[in-house]
Amino acid sequence: MIPSILPTYSRAPMSFVKGEGCWLIEADGRRFLDLGAGIAVNALGHAHPALVKTLSEQAQNLWHVSNLYQIPQQQALADKLVAESFADTVFFTNSGTESCELAVKMARKYWFEQGQSERVELITFEGSFHGRSSAGIAAAGSEKMIKGFGPILPGFVHLDWFDLDQVSAAITDKTAGIMVEPVQGEGGIRPLADSDLADLRELCDARGVLLILDEVQCGVGRTGRLFAHEWAGIAPDILLAAKGIGGGFPLGAVLATEKAASGMTAGTHGSTYGGNPLGCAVGSTVLEYVAAPEFLAEVNRKAGLFSQKLAGLVAGYPDVFEDLRGVGLMLGLKCRAANVDVVKAGYDMQVITVAAADNVIRLLPPLNITDAEIDEAISRLARAAEHLSASATAH
Ligand SMILES: *Cc1c(COP(=O)(O)O)cnc(C)c1O
Repeated sequence: MIPSILPTYSRAPMSFVKGEGCWLIEADGRRFLDLGAGIAVNALGHAHPALVKTLSEQAQNLWHVSNLYQIPQQQALADKLVAESFADTVFFTNSGTESCELAVKMARKYWFEQGQSERVELITFEGSFHGRSSAGIAAAGSEKMIKGFGPILPGFVHLDWFDLDQVSAAITDKTAGIMVEPVQGEGGIRPLADSDLADLRELCDARGVLLILDEVQCGVGRTGRLFAHEWAGIAPDILLAAKGIGGGFPLGAVLATEKAASGMTAGTHGSTYGGNPLGCAVGSTVLEYVAAPEFLAEVNRKAGLFSQKLAGLVAGYPDVFEDLRGVGLMLGLKCRAANVDVVKAGYDMQVITVAAADNVIRLLPPLNITDAEIDEAISRLARAAEHLSASATAH
């Protein structure tokens, strides 16, 4: 019999009743160190007092009004995002998938309004993830995501990860833009080199196509800059955000330049919930923390500390781990053991990591993880690795 929850996930047996900072707590009081943060969502950890305060104050006044009216909380968050980024304008969504939908529509509409309606194709990459909508799965193009779901949204060209010459050769007079994650998340924490991203920007400029960055996972402070592309010293035309931007409240955004957004006039797009007062109030508080230079400096310092200790862990357990990759607090351990077994061994030691493609486990802790919690993470991961290598040699 089908479960009452549509069985699209194979879930671990834990069930949490409370979250506190980097910790998730089960009903029986067992505490798990959370290095997954709801897949890079809880940027400030669980139940951050400032977020709880903002949410409860806003909840007492106004939860939802339609986008048919002015929404000051939305205006404030948009103004702050524009001030802190390359963007001239922002549309709020409720998820990364919805941000992808709008980004694809926006790029195509831009060219349509330029009188080049044949420019509808988006170039995307192997291993990418852009969400689970028809556009999202068409963009990623992996067999696993599209098989069985009928006609696929046309207009996506899939290239290898990552070969600039191949990208250059793939651009035609049908190309609307190139969509890429500066650091692939689901694909296994695979960062694009800063030089590759800079070259990609140059290529887009030279060939007159739009650069669309999917920073749903790597954005909002995760890499130690507000947005990951800042490391490469470049700016996109369109950027997808979600996950960390609401700190746990469902919120997403598309950021764009005036030029890229120029086709999106009144009536061309909308969302009932997108940009509602609750989500935007929380988003503003998240951004106040995460965009602060001192906060980002701390992310970088802690990322250095964590990486250094993780490199030691990899060296100490060569039969379990192969290498360390990633940027900032978006880290991945490529495993020699099966990554799902490493994640499970972690659960036994009450530390949470997230599996990704390429046999990687992801470490995406709250950005305000403490030094002591980093030490605790290393010691729990070491015990998990110890357990795995002991059981491997026992065979
Ligand atoms: C998670 C993710 C998405 C999809 O976001 P949802 O909020 O799950 O719809 C899109 N792109 C990237 C890079 C992601 O990591």
